[in-house]
Amino acid sequence: LLPVLLHLFLYRKAVNPPSSTFLLLGPSGSGKTAFLTLLESASSRRSNTAPRTHTSQNATSTTVTLPPSVPIASNQYRSVNDPSLSETKRNPVKYIVKDTPGHGKLRSSQLSQLEAILSSKKEKSPISGVIFFVDAASLSDAAEGLRDCATYLHDVLLLLQKLVFSNQKHVSQAASSVSVLVAANKQDLFTALPAGSIKERLEHEIERIRKSRQKGLMDASAGAASNEDEYEVLGTNGEEDFSFQLLEDEVGTQVSVVGGAVVSEEDTEAGAAIRGWEEWIGARL
Ligand code: GDP
Repeated sequence: LLPVLLHLFLYRKAVNPPSSTFLLLGPSGSGKTAFLTLLESASSRRSNTAPRTHTSQNATSTTVTLPPSVPIASNQYRSVNDPSLSETKRNPVKYIVKDTPGHGKLRSSQLSQLEAILSSKKEKSPISGVIFFVDAASLSDAAEGLRDCATYLHDVLLLLQKLVFSNQKHVSQAASSVSVLVAANKQDLFTALPAGSIKERLEHEIERIRKSRQKGLMDASAGAASNEDEYEVLGTNGEEDFSFQLLEDEVGTQVSVVGGAVVSEEDTEAGAAIRGWEEWIGARL
């Protein structure tokens, strides 16, 4: 019996490699490292292995698993009688999370990492999503935090837009399959804004950034904006005010804002505070 079980185990492992990568971005202090640590410890508890400790200053790529109770997209098409559908029996669904820890949290280097992965022809596990962390307690109106955070998100989305409209087919395809989750973190703090108002504020602030960019381009080209300039403006160069819906309509990139908190699992019911993000991830696996 033992060899059979071992064979089955190895077979399952082999047919179940992580297929998707999610990249963690966002201002420093927003909770990216804490989130990755939480995912790692929950995953290792599920698989009975010791969590890895890493103190690297380089980009880390970590394979984690989704809790079996979180639905995944590819399950929808399976037969109801498929035993793998049952929650407890489901193989652990793996995915990769990439973080850029340490002092190298320079935005330009995070952006070039995103561009490099999406432009590479050799990338084995393409990026399915960008998880953009936001400290929901630092985005009140007067705060410098909002402008800073919106500028960063704007730059990430504009880079994605340029890659979607790239002339190179493989780049455009890779970029088109990326969706963005704005993780409105630290919802456990009473000063945190709920996801809905984070969304509104970010959209409003991005519209201001976009306006000044549009104006800059107009000035530079003396009133005659060229076709190429159109892609230099997020959500393209239309009349409408910016919204994430506009971006989805014009470019195809989906942005969702979901609240949560990276508090330790002991504090919450089995990680309920990050459930919304894991459901978003599951919908892309
Ligand atoms: P990073 O720079 O984005 O990697 O942010 P860190 O993961 O280092 O988090 C910055 C600080 O925020 C740390 O002190 C975390 O403990 C804290 N933090 C992260 N997530 C939460 C949360 O959901 N709630 C609260 N209250 N604090 C958090």
